[in-house]
Amino acid sequence: MKILIVEDEFALADALRDRLTQENYDVDIASDGVSGCDRAMTGAYDIVIMDGMLPGKDGTEIIYEMRKAKVTTPVLMLTARSSLVDKLKGLDAGADDYMTKPFEVEELLARLRALIRRNYGSEDDVVRAGNLSLDRRNASLMNSDTRQTISLAGKEFKILEYFLENPGKALTREQISERIWGNADNVEYNNVEVYVSFIRKKIKFLKADVCIRAVRGVGYRLDVEAVNDKEATAKD
Ligand code: CA
Repeated sequence: MKILIVEDEFALADALRDRLTQENYDVDIASDGVSGCDRAMTGAYDIVIMDGMLPGKDGTEIIYEMRKAKVTTPVLMLTARSSLVDKLKGLDAGADDYMTKPFEVEELLARLRALIRRNYGSEDDVVRAGNLSLDRRNASLMNSDTRQTISLAGKEFKILEYFLENPGKALTREQISERIWGNADNVEYNNVEVYVSFIRKKIKFLKADVCIRAVRGVGYRLDVEAVNDKEATAKD
């Protein structure tokens, strides 16, 4: 799970990052509204933790822009205790949840897990599509019918995890590249193609009923192949 923290209080942002990293989340920080907006708009994050008052552009404005551009990344908004108006504005703009400062980090973790469950169906160590299951703890990929397993290298793991979190949804090379390398240029686009081809070979090796299709002019999409789908479900 990749999380973006948009927060201009450095001490708070750093403390959150440290705690979230301990929980195995992958964390980036943006410390002003403009860079926060740029990053959030990529859609490359699973969750955004968004401060309300930010230099450059405020949190509600960023959320509003995200939703207007159909970026659906769940947002947990942080607001100052006094500003009920900001809170309501944030929820109106499309925030999914909010917490008032100061807050307990453990409560934030619980809210995050709830957001993940609501939006991604599970917060499990294992993410699945069809008969393919990826164990996040050791980056091992398994065909759950044959129980055959293969391990993934770091980038392959991160890219496939991203696809498995978004089954049936076309992901652009830009989104993938943002998510894995934190930026999107032509060099990274080429890398995406190379890694996708590695991942396809591993999926094929496992004879899984999942494939990563090229979507012309867009990027790639992970699909479960319908024919074997029933079989996989029946065995669950
Ligand atoms: Ca602030």
